[in-house]
This record gives sequence, structure tokens and C-alpha cells, in this order.
Amino acid sequence: MKLTEIFGINVFNRQVMKEKLPRNIYEKLLETIENGAVLDISIAETVAQAMKDWAIEKGATHYTHWFQPLSRGTAEKHDSFLSPESLKYGNAILKFTKNQLIQAEPDASSFPSGGMRSTFEARGYTVWDPTSPVFIIENGSSNTLCIPSIFTSYNGDSLDKKTPLMRSIKALDISTRKLLSLLGENTIQVYPTLGAEQEYFLIYKDYYSLRPDLRLTGRTLIGKESPRGQKLEDHYFGTIRPDVLNFMVELENEAYKIGIPITTRHNEVAPAQFELAPIFEHVNVANDKNKILMEIMPRIARKHGFEILLHEKPFKAINGSGKHNNWSLMTKEGKNLFSIGESYDEQLQFLLFITIVLKGVHKRGELLRAAVATLGNDFRLGANEAPPGIISVFLGSTITDILDKISSGDHQGSMTEKKFVSLGLDHLPFVQLDNTDRNRTSPFAFTGNKFEFRAVGSSQSLAFPNAFINTIIAEAMDEVRAILNKNMNGDLPIAILDTIKEVYNDVRKIVFNGNNYSADWIIEAEKRELPNISTAYDALQILTKKQHISLFEKYNVLTDRELEARYSIDMDHLSSLQEIEANTLLYMIDNGIIPAVLRYFKECGMFDDKMKIDVIVSLRDELADLLSKMKIATDELRIMLSEFQGMTNREAAQFGSYDMRDKMEEVRQYSDALEGHIPEDIWPYPTYIDILHSAH
Ligand code: ADP
Ligand code: MG
Repeated sequence: MKLTEIFGINVFNRQVMKEKLPRNIYEKLLETIENGAVLDISIAETVAQAMKDWAIEKGATHYTHWFQPLSRGTAEKHDSFLSPESLKYGNAILKFTKNQLIQAEPDASSFPSGGMRSTFEARGYTVWDPTSPVFIIENGSSNTLCIPSIFTSYNGDSLDKKTPLMRSIKALDISTRKLLSLLGENTIQVYPTLGAEQEYFLIYKDYYSLRPDLRLTGRTLIGKESPRGQKLEDHYFGTIRPDVLNFMVELENEAYKIGIPITTRHNEVAPAQFELAPIFEHVNVANDKNKILMEIMPRIARKHGFEILLHEKPFKAINGSGKHNNWSLMTKEGKNLFSIGESYDEQLQFLLFITIVLKGVHKRGELLRAAVATLGNDFRLGANEAPPGIISVFLGSTITDILDKISSGDHQGSMTEKKFVSLGLDHLPFVQLDNTDRNRTSPFAFTGNKFEFRAVGSSQSLAFPNAFINTIIAEAMDEVRAILNKNMNGDLPIAILDTIKEVYNDVRKIVFNGNNYSADWIIEAEKRELPNISTAYDALQILTKKQHISLFEKYNVLTDRELEARYSIDMDHLSSLQEIEANTLLYMIDNGIIPAVLRYFKECGMFDDKMKIDVIVSLRDELADLLSKMKIATDELRIMLSEFQGMTNREAAQFGSYDMRDKMEEVRQYSDALEGHIPEDIWPYPTYIDILHSAH
């Protein structure tokens, strides 16, 4: 199918609205979608009718408020368009009213609320977010009209991931416009843009189904490294295998239908690892689309005999997967605030905005670390494939040099001549700004006209990372505006330069243009007093700090209650996942590995006392030693698990992240060593060679 024919065909987009809605209603709706005007309820009935008619034409039988609860996935409860009146008249009457469009009460009392919903007020409401397009999902024999929604409790507490993101967008809009107006620039709206590169593994379903660890936890808990691993690095950007390409094409077609603009596909570094990237758009919409994509990927993969792994670290000793979060700020008129611009004034403004980001990350960098705290990321961050748990910003040498010069006072003179030539910033193409490849190792890299937050995990929702970035930057906008205001006495360019100088000197330690994967950086970061946080457990404790709680309150992004609820849900998730992992490992050792080793002993006659051949005796002793050590470690893990079960979520999450994790690693070590000796027909699980290199 031609891209032009399918793109957006299942989206209630502007073209459809224009066709289906009376002009005045269309314009009012557009005012809400485009400019964030409060929805005029009087138009909702007409909009609902148009939506229903369109959906039914497209074969939809049901509609759902599609939302992003605080659990890991997305949620939908399908309701049919069948109206109760049908019973009276005896034939099917299809209805969709304004109330059904705007608000639903899906009960949904089993979603985590972190204590925000006690049973007597257990009602949760989903409310339509008109700024994100309504779409139709085709799933087998049923088409469903999906209405992107937020999810709140009876008393207005946010019970989802989307609401804080939307609130943060508003906060950042306000703060940025205030600063812009001080700079003499007025715009009706500024919004963050997001382009999310999604990495993933695609493996054969047949192997996947034979691995309880992949099925239950998303990652391999045991498995001897493959001799090849990702050595030779021939997979990266290599020719895409035809079977994988077929999957990608079908995925892209499905994505296009619902308006997801995937433009990039390629092989990633690890074997069986791939990446896709869409064209960036408004962060609220881009976040929704990434969530939708994560839902349809597994479905389409299965049709092609594959299984998708979105886990951050499915396999030991090869790269894990991230989700590079490309973030920038755009005015309603389409100006990217992180584009360098051509005129002197634009370039100055650009430098000011860069300095604002530095200030935000300098002050609240640990919040960015907290925003990427997932169990899976613990195994990826700092493992020589992703930045460590230290948050710093990459600017590249060109911009750093300029800021250094400004801060040392060098700008006097050259700046007043309104020339950047001496600073080397005159009409530089982006390519030169992004002048080193080192940014690839940075957690927060300036890449030409946007910041790339590379520490985000592949399985994560992008709502929190972006809500955090937006909030941090909103605060920095306000703080820098106050300084600029103070410095304003006449010449704006001089005031901006003075402000950059003042701010940059305080925050420059956050800039690091070197190799973030090197051991030297760990030492250097310590000298700079930049924290290095290696576990999700520790990173999440940051959310309990007073100074951050008040930040989220100040910018109306999260109340202390809402933040605390999220923290408590995170502790619950973390401990539950760790419990599942430990139990799965025990299951695999007890029911798979130990019996296999014993079978091997039996088959080789190793139980036979008369077996006296030296080499066999020594092999038997070696294997028996590994087996017995593995058994001891497994039993120790079992005891730990029973202790774990008696703990609070928080204690358990901590215990699971340290002591229990070490013990699991020890068990794995013995199992992997045994795997090196047992033939494939006896070893009970598909090996790394099977899973990763079948198609080579
Ligand atoms: P790379 O792999 O080199 O980082 P890609 O082209 O794969 O580059 O991905 C870059 C991503 O950044 C794309 O999703 C792209 O749409 C996005 N992007 C580009 N400009 C912006 C911007 N101004 N704001 C947000 N995202 C952007
Ligand atoms: Mg990238």
C-alpha cells in the first residue's frame, strides 16, 4: 500500500473533522486542540456524533477511553455503541453521546493508586484529552475507537502518567513565554517536542516460549554468553534480514494508519537488536504514540513468528535497549528555541536557552536520574553501552568554548560589535555544532538543535521523563529570567551576556564532553561532586526529598500526595518484579537445570563408582563441585526470598537491589558454567547461540 494512501486513515484528523463537522464547531474544536482553549461543552454532542459515524464507517463496533494508568501498560475497557434503546425497538440502535465521549467511569479499581483511592471513594474517571487525536485500532476481527484520556480519582488526584505530563507542558509554556517576552518576543504558545527512538530485540517465538525467564520477566536470568556476542559489530546498520524487514513493514503500515510517522529503521549493535524512530511532534502526542506503538509491536511480531523484547537488558554481555528521548522547545510559529539561528540576536538567545538547560540539569539532575529508574535500567546504565548513573550534559566543544569565553569575560568587545566571528559561532552549520561522536555516551546530549536524553529505558513510558524535564526547565527559565531582569539596564544583548556569564560559572561542572563510559569519568564526576546512582531503588529515593516535592507542587505538576503515591507504587513494582525474578530463577534451576545435570551424569555413567578413567573422574568432580555450589547458592536465595516476603515494599526493594541481586548473580554464574559442559540436547533451555544467532 502506498504511504500516501494509508497515512492517518484511522485517525479522526483535521481533514475528517473538517468534512464531518459544521464549520463553527470545527473551528471551536480546533481552538482547543491547537491553542489549548477550554473545550466548549456545547459542541461535544455534535463532535461525538461525527466521531461515531466516522468510526462505524470504518468498521468500529466499540469505543474505549484509552489511558495510561500507573501500572506498566495502557488500559482500555471496550464498550459497544449499542444503545439500551435497542431493546425497546428490537433493532440495533447505535449511540455515542457527548457524555460517553467526554467522561467514563471504568471502575478500574484494581489499578495501582498508591493509596489515593480508598474503597469508599473508589471511583476513577477517565476524561477525554482532545489535544491528542482519536484513532481506530484494528485488532483481528474487531475495530475499536480509541479516545486518548487522562485518569483521575473522584477527588481529582491524578491516577495516571499522562496528567502530570500535560501539567508540566503547561508550566513550561508559561515560564518560557515569560522569558521570551522579556526578550521582546511574544508568542501564543511554546511546547516541547519529542522524537523517541525505540530500540528493541526481535527473537524467534519458538525459542522465547521455551524460556520461562523471558516470558515471566522479559530478560534472561541465566545463559552462557555466546562466543560471538556482538563482536565484529557487523550487525549495526547491516542489511536487514528479509523476515525482519517483513515485520518492520507491517508494523510501519499499521503505525501509518493511526498516524505514527515512523521514518527510520535499522539494525542495532547487538545481534537481533533493532531500532525505529518517528518524526518528532508535540510531546503529549508523541508520548501517546510511543505507547500505542509498544502495544502493537508484540502483536505484529507474533504474526511473523517473532517475539518483541522491550526490556532494557534482555541478555547479559551484549548491549541492552534504550529509548532516546529527543527533546526540544518550539514556538507556535514553528521556531525551535534550540536552533542556533542566523542573526546575532538569535544566536545570543540560543546561548541563553542552552544555559537555562544547564542550570536546570545542574540543580535537578538527580531528578532526571530518578525519571529513568526502572529495574531493567539497573543492568544497562553504566554497562559500557549506556551512560552511567551520573547525569551530565554534553554540549560539544564549539558551544562549550563559546560559553567558556563568555564566562571569562572575552565577550566584551567582540559582542558589542554584534559579531560572533571571534567566537566562531558565525553561521555555523549544525553538523559542526554536533562535532564529535562522544555525545553518544552522554546521558543528556545537545545534538544540534535538540537535547537527547539517552538514559531512558526501552520499556519505559516517556510521560515521566518528559514531565520531569519540562518541570526542571520551567524552574530554570524562571530563575534565569529573574537574573536577566536584574541585569537589564539598557542594552539587552549585554544583559543576556552578563546573565549567561553569571549562570554558566555556577553550573559549568554539569558539562562533560568526554567519554561517559570511561572509568576516569567516574573518578572525575566524584571530584565534581556529581552523584553516581546505580540502582533504581536509590534513584527513586530522590523523589522523597523535600526540595523536589515542593518543585512539583510549585509548578502544579504533582501534589505531594500524588508524588508520594507514585513513589509507593514504584517501590511496590520494584519489589514485585524482583520477587518474580528470584522465583523464576529458582524455578528454572530446580525444575530445569539440576535435573538436566543429573541426567547428564547418569547418561555418562558418572554415578558409577567403578568409573576410574582420570579425565572422567576430574570432569565429574568439576561438575559436581559446580552443581553443589549452585545448590547451596540456590538454597541461600530461597532463604533470602522468605525474608524478603516479610519485609515492607521499600525494604524488600532495597534488599532485592543489593543482597538478593548479588545472590542471583552467583547462582547464574554456576549455572552458566555448567551450561558450558552439558550438551544441547540435555540442556533444558534454548541457549544464547540459539536465540541470538539463528539467522546468521
Ligand atoms: P540519531 O540516531 O543520530 O540520534 P535519528 O534520526 O535516528 O538520529 O533520531 C533522531 C530523532 O530526533 C528523530 O525521532 C527525530 O524526529 C528527532 N528530532 C529531530 N529534531 C527534533 C526536535 N527539534 N525535537 C525533538 N525531536 C527531534
Ligand atoms: Mg539518537
